[in-house]
Formats: sequence, structure tokens, C-alpha cells
Amino acid sequence: MSHSPQTPELIQDFLQGNRAALGRAITLVESNHPKHQMAAEAILSAAMSAKKNSIRIGITGVPGVGKSTFIEALGKLLISQGHRVAVLAVDPSSQRSQGSILGDKTRMQELSRDEDAFIRPSPSGETLGGVARKTRESMILCEAAGYDVILVETMGVGQSEILVHSMVDFFLLLKLAGAGDELQGIKRGIMEMADSIVINKADGENKQRAQRAQKEFQGALHYLQQRGDGWSPQVLLSSGLHNQGIEEVWSLIEGYIKESLASGKFDQQRSEQEAEWFYQSLKEQLQQAFQDSPKMKAALSEKLEAIQKRQATPYRAALGLVEDFLKEG
Ligand code: GDP
Repeated sequence: MSHSPQTPELIQDFLQGNRAALGRAITLVESNHPKHQMAAEAILSAAMSAKKNSIRIGITGVPGVGKSTFIEALGKLLISQGHRVAVLAVDPSSQRSQGSILGDKTRMQELSRDEDAFIRPSPSGETLGGVARKTRESMILCEAAGYDVILVETMGVGQSEILVHSMVDFFLLLKLAGAGDELQGIKRGIMEMADSIVINKADGENKQRAQRAQKEFQGALHYLQQRGDGWSPQVLLSSGLHNQGIEEVWSLIEGYIKESLASGKFDQQRSEQEAEWFYQSLKEQLQQAFQDSPKMKAALSEKLEAIQKRQATPYRAALGLVEDFLKEG
């Protein structure tokens, strides 16, 4: 199978920052179709060698917290400073409904018209892992196309937050000031992942509640175990709608990136993420190869039966199966 004659041209165009070409390149890389595989590999390898510096920021928060309004305000600020901004989304619900929240084309309208912004809705995929894989690869293409700030948006649901956290340099949690006990309903794990918490919609009548929430969260963060890297996550206030607090959030992120570049943490974290992704992919692909092997299918049910008849322990049965699998090839 050869890749289409248009591929080299497409590569040249997207590397030069052509938005439409970047969109097409991402579609090819996202495709699960075998006929796109050659083109996808050529595109990825060109993107990898064109690697440029970038900052990757994860932004999470429940639907309605104001993510897209916030991202639009942040994106516009960044572009006014000369950055080029790509917005990607990881939305595990996008395979279920076409009109998923993060994929809605009416979001971030102003930003999407800007030549220096590239906005891509969440890829769909059979599994959340598949969606994350596609987003990681799209991120590499966006960087090669000259987007130096990548914003990866996800909703406040556990597993997708963990995945997005594992692909970014800075992880931002957007919260709303609630009516009372601010800390209720916030999972400790997410607090621990956040490099900063931003209480959004801190405007109008909401402002005072937001300030109280800020104190509560800041207090709660003190009780979390000290991070090994010396960074103390801060709680800031913002209003995406009224464009307030956005510069402060960005200068906090810039400060963090500067510090972590200087200490070597930035590069170390990126390599750890790459290694983690590699091992995770290896595990998934091995498991898939195992499940796809017809010989193993029969052996699997035999072993299961043996376990149930107490003829083998689960551990020994698995060990035997893997030995047979390895012999097979
Ligand atoms: P998302 O679902 O997290 O992406 O949230 P959206 O950005 O779509 O915002 C949800 C709703 O909250 C919309 O009606 C926005 O107009 C409103 N909203 C967003 N940001 C703010 C803000 O900073 N202040 C106020 N008062 N409303 C906001």
C-alpha cells in the first residue's frame, strides 16, 4: 500500500502553518482505517522531526463552569502577545452523541475566526484510551504547525482528567463558588493533580462567594501533602465573561513554566509522560494481540474452566497461557 501522492504536499502545507492542511493531516492521523496508515506515519514522522517548543496546558472543569468562555479569553490574550494557540478537547462522551458539549461548533466563535488559533473538537474513538492517543498525536501536529501554546480541554470526569494530566505541562482546574461547603464533591485526586485552581465566574453578585471559595480552597491545598517539586498550587479568581483575572492566570502559568524549565523538571516530566504512554500502549497492544489470537481464545476458556474446577490457581493459569502465547509466534 502506498500513500497518496498528495501526502508530501499536505505535509509541506501543514508544516507551513496552513490551518486547513493541519485539519486534514489530523483527520488522517486520527483515522483507524488501514488505508490511511502510511500517510499517517509519514505525517507523524515529519511532525516529529519538525519539533518546536511549546507549552501544553490542560484545562478541566464540569460542564457550565465556563471553560469555553475562559479559553476564548485566554486564547485571545495569548494571540495578542504573539502566540499561536491550538485548542484540543478530550471528551469521552463524543462517541456517543455527535452534538457533544466540547464538539459544539458554536463554541469559541471569535477565537476560531482568528488565523492564529486552531480549534479542534474531541476525536471520537471506541475507548477513552483511543481518544487520548489521537489527541496526543494531534498535539504533535499542532506544535509542528507552529502553535506554541496547546490548550487541552476536558470535562470534570475522573479518567479523562487523569489522561489529560498525563499529556500536559500544566494542569488547571476551573471551579465555581458554590452555595456553601466548597470542598464537597471535589475529589482529592483532582486537587492533587491541579497545578492551580481558578474560581471562575468571579463577577457581579458572585464575587464575594468566589473570594470565600478562594480562601477555602487555598486552605485545603495546604493540607495536601507537600509536592516533591517545591511548587505550591495557588487559587486564583477569574471571569472569562468579563475578561478579568485572565492575565494573572497566564502569568502564573508562565512563572511555573519558567521555573520548571530552569530546574529541569519540564523536560523530565515530558520524558516521563512519553515513557508512560509507551508502556501503556505496549500493554494495550499486547493484550489486543492476545485477544485477537484464535488459538488463545480456546485456551483462555479452557484455563478459565480449570480455575473454576480448582485445577489451577489463576496466577499459574495465566502464566501458562502467556508461555503458550509467546511460543506461538
Ligand atoms: P463550559 O460548558 O464549561 O464550556 O461553559 P461555557 O463557557 O459554555 O459557559 C457556560 C455558561 O456560563 C454560559 O451561559 C456563559 O455565558 C456563562 N459564563 C461563562 N463564563 C462566565 C463568567 O466568567 N461569568 C459569568 N457570570 N458567566 C459566565
